[in-house]
Amino acid sequence: MSKPVVTRFAPSPTGYLHIGGARTALFNWAFARNTGGKMLLRIEDTDRERSTEAAVTALLDGLSWLGITWDGEPYSQFARASRHVEVANQLLAEGKAYRCYCSAEELAEMRERARAEGRPPRYDGRWRDRDPSEAPEGVKPVIRIKAPQSGDIVVNDHVQGDVTFKAENLDDFIILRSDGTPTYMHAVVVDDHDMGVTHIIRGDDHLTNAARQIVIYQAMGWDIPEMSHIPLIHGPDGAKLSKRHGAMGVETYRQMGYLPEALRNYLARLGWAHGDDEIFSTEQFVAWFSLEALGKGAARFDFGKLDNLNGHYIRMAAPERLYEVMVDTASELGRNADYLGLINNKETALAAIPELQPRAKTVLELIDLAQFIYAQRPLPVDEKAAGLLNTDALGHLAALKERLQGVNEWSVPEIDAAVREYAESVGLKLGKVAQPLRAALTGRTISPGIFEVMVLIGREESLARLGDQVRAVARH
Ligand code: GLU
Repeated sequence: MSKPVVTRFAPSPTGYLHIGGARTALFNWAFARNTGGKMLLRIEDTDRERSTEAAVTALLDGLSWLGITWDGEPYSQFARASRHVEVANQLLAEGKAYRCYCSAEELAEMRERARAEGRPPRYDGRWRDRDPSEAPEGVKPVIRIKAPQSGDIVVNDHVQGDVTFKAENLDDFIILRSDGTPTYMHAVVVDDHDMGVTHIIRGDDHLTNAARQIVIYQAMGWDIPEMSHIPLIHGPDGAKLSKRHGAMGVETYRQMGYLPEALRNYLARLGWAHGDDEIFSTEQFVAWFSLEALGKGAARFDFGKLDNLNGHYIRMAAPERLYEVMVDTASELGRNADYLGLINNKETALAAIPELQPRAKTVLELIDLAQFIYAQRPLPVDEKAAGLLNTDALGHLAALKERLQGVNEWSVPEIDAAVREYAESVGLKLGKVAQPLRAALTGRTISPGIFEVMVLIGREESLARLGDQVRAVARH
């Protein structure tokens, strides 16, 4: 029987959970769930100067928001430093690693020479076979691994195929620094081995590291986990992902009004495919996930697609939940007027949300569309809406206001009938009256059905808002 699958997400806590990291985590999570295995979370915090507690919190929050769960407590790589030292010492004792006493000047000279000769800079192995008795006084050595000097190192990769690295291009790299701290290369291998990781899924920027890591696995006689190096996410133009193109933390996506299920669905399709399926549930994603379906081509980030997916998930969401998300988003962004407006008009907002859902692609758009509910009179009118409120239109609105005052029951059918009758009586199409009406009542050109709007805000408020506009023109 094959071993149960163990994957891991191993972020360095030096910033937020960026979008590429989120996708890596998602794939590791999906594979673990698909196979009934485990996904571990390992915080790679050995670089004490660059790691912060705030970044760890941001990582955990980002994952939780996306609905990505891990098994057990998160590991701290730093906390395992003594184990990293132990393995380095074992390699030393077995003659598979050695102490190197090169000074910074010597190393600089080596690099300089390599550059002059047009070779990649690499350590020349000068301490590999040197007698330790030659060690200079008072110099703290680093520990380097004895990498093979000839032959090939092959990374068998589920995504990239067999990738061959010539041993002569890999030098005896450092596994333990002179201050006794492990390098990333070494710590990752020791941790992955000790934690029983069977599958590594990560960005293809780690492919050359994989070759070096294999050197350590082989030196220790450990099984090499199965590897999948996924192409990085690129911008829509194929260039490296820039901020403008989406290289941001997941919390920025939340603040931009994306729902976690939309981002999850979107990220799932960046470098992985199940036929032509674009929209699928998380359950389907997990059920369908396989390493074989990971793509080799660069994935391109496309906000248009994300918006469309988000619109879909907004339409699918329960109004109660959207209301909560709108409130939280307004609060997170410090949009106090919106926050208070939503809180103080919960019933109306809940009643309005089904009208808003088909019209919004983001939660921010939902909030904007809901503003008519709690906007303070006289309403701010945006430029497009103002364009509809010309003298002619305002004349009609004044007359319409009279009619509406006489409506018996303030309901959609009765308001509808009154507005239609008025439009007919002056020989106008309904839209010619309804559009200025919308502009006056909401301050915008896009809103839910205008009769629904009038019912939602009520007779008094509707007539008062109309009055504000009509009066405004009367003064001119
Ligand atoms: N800590 C590394 C990073 O954040 C990832 C290490 C790995 O996945 O092997 O890039």
